[in-house]
Amino acid sequence: MGVRVPKKVFSGATLDLLFTGEIEKIDQAFRPYIYAFAKDFLDCDCESNPYCEHPERKFMKYILRLRGEKRSPKEIVKKMEEDYMIYAYPSDLVTFLDDSIRTLEVLEAMADTMGDIEKKDQIRKEKELLI
Ligand SMILES: [Zn+2]
Repeated sequence: MGVRVPKKVFSGATLDLLFTGEIEKIDQAFRPYIYAFAKDFLDCDCESNPYCEHPERKFMKYILRLRGEKRSPKEIVKKMEEDYMIYAYPSDLVTFLDDSIRTLEVLEAMADTMGDIEKKDQIRKEKELLI
C-alpha cells in the first residue's frame, strides 16, 4: 500500500481511500491486498465503524500472533509485506511493540485493581508474547 505502519495505516486518509470508492484509482495489482486488509482489520459491526478503535486492536493481535510465533521485528515486517503489501521499518515495529507493552501494562494494572484475576492473567500472557 506504500504506507508506513502502524501509525498511518489507520489514519483517516487510508480509511477514506477504502470507503469512498477511491480504491478504483488504485492499481489493480494492489487491490487484492487492500481488500484482504479491509476484510481482516476494518470489518467491524460496532456503531463507530469505520472510525472505531477495533481495527487497531485487530492489527495489534495480528502482530502479537506473529511475535508469539517467535518472529523477529524484521521478519514481522516481511510477513506484513507478504500478507498485505504494508511497508514498515523494523524500528517502527519495535516502537509499536513497546507502545503495545505499555498499553497492556496499564490494562493489567486496571484488571488488578478491579480484582479480575482471570483477565489479568490473560493480559499478562499476551504481554509476555511481545517481550
Ligand atoms: Zn468497531
